[in-house]
Amino acid sequence: MSHPVTLIPGDGIGPEVSNAARRAVDATGVKIDWQITELNSNLILKTGDSLPKSVVDSLERTHVGLKGPVTTPIAGGFSSVNVALRKRLDLYANVRPVHSLPGLATRFQDVKIDMVIVRENTEDLYSGLEHEVVKDVVTGLKVITRAASIRIAEYAFRFAVSAGRKKITAIHKANIMKLADGLFLRCCREVAACYPQIQYHELIVDNAAMQLVVRPETFDILLLPNLYGDIVSDLAAGLVGGLGIVPGANIGDQDAVFEAVHGSAPDIAGKGIANPTAMMMSAVLMLIHLKEHEAAKHLQSAIESVYNAKKHLTCDVGGNASTEVFTDAVIAALGH
Ligand code: ATP
Repeated sequence: MSHPVTLIPGDGIGPEVSNAARRAVDATGVKIDWQITELNSNLILKTGDSLPKSVVDSLERTHVGLKGPVTTPIAGGFSSVNVALRKRLDLYANVRPVHSLPGLATRFQDVKIDMVIVRENTEDLYSGLEHEVVKDVVTGLKVITRAASIRIAEYAFRFAVSAGRKKITAIHKANIMKLADGLFLRCCREVAACYPQIQYHELIVDNAAMQLVVRPETFDILLLPNLYGDIVSDLAAGLVGGLGIVPGANIGDQDAVFEAVHGSAPDIAGKGIANPTAMMMSAVLMLIHLKEHEAAKHLQSAIESVYNAKKHLTCDVGGNASTEVFTDAVIAALGH
């Protein structure tokens, strides 16, 4: 049986890293019917449609996507298609496992880091509701609802139980945003009370940022509203070797889209030097979602063996291999 999967190469380094991930998945022997769907800033500018129907149609057919990054213009231009897609398909849980890779030299290489970031994916300051009240005075709406907060907290606790994890830390700024973050926190506490077997802690986001750097090994699952989740994800990526290696999953009740934490990295696009690890490990999460557990384990071990050997690493993690050479090494390690 072949699994239908929507493959969105994206733009910037997206096509390079998604092609690498596709080659690696194909090399596991799992049969995927890749349905390639264009989604990039040129197409959006040409059609004026920030979320083309073809993308949504394909994902509504396949229910599973592997997605490269798509550029979001800064301070103006079209709104983020990544955010639009998550909202359109109600992919409410953004799950990002962050762990050290064997053999990879980082500033924290002596510390065993193994945490999972669970980020609410549909609201908060990502509501896109900004308004210029009068010239030079702008407000932006932070939307926090009980429904979305309960839903993400329940997801995190269910995930903790199924993954055999022990502790959840809810991260907030409820000392300042007493209503908005206060509601998020009340929902987390309410759900935590139903899971006495999971330790529940809370940290104010600024303190959490420091604790993550000072004692990252003490974190297990982090549960955050959307914006803190975005920022803390990049911080956590920095602890284990950078954005090139941290994967992610956007999960809804019907659909799931797998994508790296990193963006389109225009500074290195087209140079053939992007690290495809994050995209490949997002594909590992996809294989688990497709219940192809053996292939997922096999691909994860192949990636880890290339890191252990240290010979074919890309420049962001201290090597000088191209995207293609790294990918060839992973495929060789798969032994197909
Ligand atoms: P966005 O806001 O779109 O999520 P970002 O803030 O995460 O983007 P990126 O576009 O991911 O930013 O890039 C941040 C830095 O990390 C850049 O210098 C980029 O070159 C580097 N980087 C990101 N992804 C990779 C990768 N896969 N391989 C190597 N370097 C990367």
